[in-house]
Amino acid sequence: MEKLENKRKIIKELFPESLPTPDELEKRYPPRELKEGAMVTRIAPSPTGSMHIGSLYTALISERFAHQTKGVFYLRIEDTDKKREVEGATNLISQSLDHFGVRVDEGRDASGIEHGNYSPYMQSERKDIYKSYIKKLLEEDKAYLCFCTEEDLNQIRKEQSAQGICPGYYRQWALWRDKSPEEVVTKIKEGSSFVVRFKSHGDYNNRITINDSILGKRELPENDQDIVIMKSDGLPTYHLAHVVDDHLMRTTHVIRGDEWLSSLPLHLQLFETLGWQPPQYAHIAPIQKIEGSSKRKLSKRKDTEANVAYFEEQGYPKEAIIEYLINLANSNFEDWRKANIGKDYREFQISFEKLKNSSGALFDFNKLNDISKEIMAQLTPREVYRDVLVWARKHDKKLASLLEEHPDYSQMIFSIERGSGSKVRKDISKWSDVVKEIEYFFDENFHITKQEVLDILSDFSEVDISEIIHDFINLYEHHDSKDVWFGKIKQIAKKHNYAESAKEFKKNHDKYRGMVADVAKIFRVLLTGRKETPDLWSIMQTMGQERVFKRLQEIDA
Ligand code: GLU
Repeated sequence: MEKLENKRKIIKELFPESLPTPDELEKRYPPRELKEGAMVTRIAPSPTGSMHIGSLYTALISERFAHQTKGVFYLRIEDTDKKREVEGATNLISQSLDHFGVRVDEGRDASGIEHGNYSPYMQSERKDIYKSYIKKLLEEDKAYLCFCTEEDLNQIRKEQSAQGICPGYYRQWALWRDKSPEEVVTKIKEGSSFVVRFKSHGDYNNRITINDSILGKRELPENDQDIVIMKSDGLPTYHLAHVVDDHLMRTTHVIRGDEWLSSLPLHLQLFETLGWQPPQYAHIAPIQKIEGSSKRKLSKRKDTEANVAYFEEQGYPKEAIIEYLINLANSNFEDWRKANIGKDYREFQISFEKLKNSSGALFDFNKLNDISKEIMAQLTPREVYRDVLVWARKHDKKLASLLEEHPDYSQMIFSIERGSGSKVRKDISKWSDVVKEIEYFFDENFHITKQEVLDILSDFSEVDISEIIHDFINLYEHHDSKDVWFGKIKQIAKKHNYAESAKEFKKNHDKYRGMVADVAKIFRVLLTGRKETPDLWSIMQTMGQERVFKRLQEIDA
């Protein structure tokens, strides 16, 4: 009895009266009034630097589930590990979510303003809330103070390893689990630092069955570890903090990386000990990549594509990244997209069932580029101009000034094989590709020497080239339709003994020097410096007669 009194005294001294009580907290954060089936999900990143593509993936999946069920998606910043925190990382997370259109209902928005009735959404601002429950657990003898030093813990580990038994702080190895209040008081008086540990009653040899929304039914060993719930700096660990927050914020589904699966028995035990119903858990397999002959998780340190900022820098449209990630999560999205061109991806219904097959999803740039090209192909020339300019102002100043100096000409360039007509160009997957695609249109960027031209056109003599150009210029009328224009090229081809079509050339191979496409190649190379380009007639129309003649005649200069 006296012991119990002593213990109460210690707890009272360490945890102030002013802390909110669990009852008050239940009232402050009441159950949400949502319709049946509405999911409350969250993304709970730690602000430790750049935003990982895996976080965006998890955020997107969580956001989709919340919004497609008319629920709530919120952002909680898990910043209780002050050592790992990086300045500015919180803003970066909100801004990235905003940039990719992953709508957050509660938590910090991109301008740093917090919304929502379950605030604060920064764990470091919820210290008193966690303390209230830590105090309760201590009072109920479900937690205890531990004064082990680093050396003590090392010693335990050494002995466990020598005996070949499970490492950790549990049962007989839990040095401070059953210490008397007197011993605790002595330590406190000495000013020793301490942590608070959860008093587990689990047994590692027991199995518990969990039912994960993605992984299904699994058996896992029961938790027997007296894990730390409050660190020596007074802040809670992730384990306790997320349990408290997911309860008070009334989260219905915790969708998170599968690196947390092994901690689930502990988390379920914490929920049970606190007398709460746990949320439904769904553990997502990480996005992987192939290295050599094996797969591995995308790594922040090794892979530039692990950081979402990379895709913005490269100029991938945000829709491409989002659609690519949905496709990774639910592979049936691809068919849905084909059947629903132009529809908002939000109309697609994401499912846990399909997520089951996403284990080991590989990051595939080819796939991303294909998705991106399809999305780019649907933009109007004006939209391309607008979006590429926004990107270029940030990432390619030279391109930005070129576009700003020539707005009409640029939009004409972007009109080639875009919008009207059946053949839509699909050569751009990201804005950084644009420079390469359009640079030759601008005189200040177009440089090719006579020798380079002759090297590319090595099948022709210089005299042939000159004569063909001469004939072309004589016949050229800038307002000719494409058919008339092509008729004239055929006429020139015929005159110089080139077949008028590939078919004809194939048939009578020996009769001709080549075919009409070879003749067109001369113009193509002189105008663009390339052997392959979009439609040549459109290029000439865009460049204008003066520029076309000037470039064609350069060979004779
Ligand atoms: N802060 C944890 C992390 O960044 C969150 C895990 C969770 O979603 O519960 O991994």
